[in-house]
Amino acid sequence: MNLIEMVKAAGVVGAGGAGFPTHVKLNTNVEYFIVNAAECEPLIETDKYLCRTFADRIIRTIPQIAEAIGASKKVIALKGAYEKEIAALKVAIREQNSDVEIFELGYFYPAGDEQTLIQQVTGRCVPERGLPSDVGCVVDNVGTVLNIADALEGKAVTEKYLSVVGEVEHPIQLRVPIGTPVLECVKAAHPTVSDFALIMGGPMMGKQLTEQAVMEQAVVTKTTGNILVLPKDHYLFRKASLPMETVRKQTKSACLQCKMCTELCPRYLIGHQIHPNLMMRGLWLEPTITDNEEYLRMYGEAANCCSCGVCEMFACPMGLSPRKVNDYFKAEFRKRGIQVPKNPEAHAREFVQERKTPTNRLVARLNLSQYYGKHPKTCEELTVDTVFIPFSQHIGRPAVAVKQAGETVAKGELIAAAAEGLSANIHSSVDGVIEEITDKGARITCRKE
Ligand code: SF4
Ligand code: SF4
Repeated sequence: MNLIEMVKAAGVVGAGGAGFPTHVKLNTNVEYFIVNAAECEPLIETDKYLCRTFADRIIRTIPQIAEAIGASKKVIALKGAYEKEIAALKVAIREQNSDVEIFELGYFYPAGDEQTLIQQVTGRCVPERGLPSDVGCVVDNVGTVLNIADALEGKAVTEKYLSVVGEVEHPIQLRVPIGTPVLECVKAAHPTVSDFALIMGGPMMGKQLTEQAVMEQAVVTKTTGNILVLPKDHYLFRKASLPMETVRKQTKSACLQCKMCTELCPRYLIGHQIHPNLMMRGLWLEPTITDNEEYLRMYGEAANCCSCGVCEMFACPMGLSPRKVNDYFKAEFRKRGIQVPKNPEAHAREFVQERKTPTNRLVARLNLSQYYGKHPKTCEELTVDTVFIPFSQHIGRPAVAVKQAGETVAKGELIAAAAEGLSANIHSSVDGVIEEITDKGARITCRKE
């Protein structure tokens, strides 16, 4: 098997984001292979841990991946402030006499956004709603690189490294089998409040879990990198729960048209057509527009929003919600069947370097300062009695079960095969017995030693 076939067999998907199947992403020919170790959002610790701990393996694997995609330039990008991690990577580069380059990013959000990262590293701008390969790049998260290293040794993706931070006794780094209940991870970090809610991922773009029943059902997947524990009444949950009608009223009465949301928008900065202030200005008219052409003309730019949240969590002096408004328009495009054309040319605006959102100031705005600057000391391994392994942990079609209830499985054994088209293999993360298996996933009881 070649590298791409081994990656496919191991079920590798993007470890840092939406879970795009990696074998599909690597089926290309580009100039740059960029490893994303920027740890985009505040408070997350996992990429840093991986860089410190597995620097040698990361640097050894990058050229193998680069060769498979024909990339002559190999770069690992992380924030310049990550001194220990950069030092570890430099030692590995020196010892291996490697030609992998380190790119030091500024300390800003969203440095790890794929399109922002590419602009910073190469000076190239990915077109609106385009792919990194449109500008000769492939970007993989550092966790994905390590999963590829395992795949090259014949090991499937069965476990995850993740941090648990926030309202806990001390932030922890965990290594857990995929399918581990999220609340088991939270318990291991000893929450300091009983009435908490969770954000899976970072505070800006992570998925909020606020209902007890939802938290109880949530499990660690191939894309989980962080769990943020916060009191249920935290500002972030209150802000996200604002109904659209309230947002509409607030916008109508309080938007100053100061344009700060546009001036700081990361997509605007890399030259995409997006002006959130204009979406806010036109919002009050929206219920009256029935013609799709007119709707597209008025609000089509919202399709270029990546929902990073800079506008509403940092830029807006009035505490308004341009991101929520753009998300609303995007949903309306889908409902109304409106296709928004893309501008294939993008050129960064001349002030792209000056208008970055500083991470430490963002943390203060998010009311997270009390949790900032605390780091896990060690990595703990968590064992559990039961796992539930979902068959859809990736973008594309769910994998299809190849086992039945009652069967014994070993860690790393295939339990659901990639479906036709965009999909990924799923393997058992433990030695155990399948208690239940449906088209949604498999519940496996771990075998006791
Ligand atoms: S969420 Fe706001 S800042 Fe981010 S891309 Fe969308 S409009 Fe721009
Ligand atoms: S930053 Fe806020 S007040 Fe200013 S234009 Fe944007 S939404 Fe309106």
